[in-house]
Amino acid sequence: MTRIIISDEMENEVVERIKQLGEVVYLPANLNEAIANADVLIVRSKTKVTAELLAHAHKLKIVARGGVGLDNVDVKACEARHINVLNTPGASANAVAELVLGHMFSCFRNIAKAHHQMKNKIWDKKSLTGQEIEGKTLGVIGYGRIGALVGKKASALGMKIISYNPPPRYEDEIVRFVGLDELLAHADVITLHVPSTPETKNMINSSTIAKMKKGVFIINTARGDIIDENALYEGCKSGKIAAAALDVFPQEPYTGKLLELDNVFFTPHLGAATKEAQGRIGDELVKLLKEAV
Ligand code: NAD
Repeated sequence: MTRIIISDEMENEVVERIKQLGEVVYLPANLNEAIANADVLIVRSKTKVTAELLAHAHKLKIVARGGVGLDNVDVKACEARHINVLNTPGASANAVAELVLGHMFSCFRNIAKAHHQMKNKIWDKKSLTGQEIEGKTLGVIGYGRIGALVGKKASALGMKIISYNPPPRYEDEIVRFVGLDELLAHADVITLHVPSTPETKNMINSSTIAKMKKGVFIINTARGDIIDENALYEGCKSGKIAAAALDVFPQEPYTGKLLELDNVFFTPHLGAATKEAQGRIGDELVKLLKEAV
């Protein structure tokens, strides 16, 4: 019988469906021990699948990540041990795209700020005058599955969509692909949808921020290390950046200095946290595992 370890929390319903594929150990107390006889390891983002962990695995054939990025999986170490790495790339795209729109509306209309003020018994409409989204330019950095969906939804709201993604992917009638400098100079809102790689690390830094419009909004639902935290702090503090909305952080849980600022808004890595996306992640995982084991 296939021995399957699920080492990160998953919906009960998904765990039950995976149980039909083999003998499941859910959230083992000692992963190093449990992995010794396992055929399959299923993770979300918490478990770090390192070469050190894999050294305890003697039979492992599959590492399956419920989600998109493989930044918590040492893919090279898996390949060296002939372990197949699977993920569920499309399952959370719509959930992330909708969160981007939520943050964008909140930033434009000061929704989070208004909520916070009222909870503190402050009724100050003047400080909450917002802006409208229609007619603004959205700069999408990384026009892949999520970026292209954000583009489509934002275009329906009357935004102009420009994107930096060399070479262009998902070309459609909605988007105009431009160079990075042109995007930085023209976008009223910049949303990040690139993977975390050596090239994208600190892509938003003091020199790229200097090229942006004054009063720009920045939304990051991709990965925390794509933005230089100090540069974002300075940009938001000086008012060059009107507001930033962050779902991902250099370290998670995040307790850093951006929390001090009133024009930075936070969600704790909620991009894929919808009932529907969790269901789709489960469906894709079960399908992949049925094919693979
Ligand atoms: P994707 O692979 O479909 O798209 C990424 C795009 O970025 C591709 O089109 C690629 O060509 C482009 N790209 C890569 N390097 C680039 C560079 N240096 N400059 C410009 N473009 C570049 O990925 P996706 O599924 O759309 O996911 C995008 C990001 O969202 C990933 O970082 C992923 O980890 C993150 N994500 C976050 C959550 C969350 O919970 N917040 C959930 C899912 C995905």
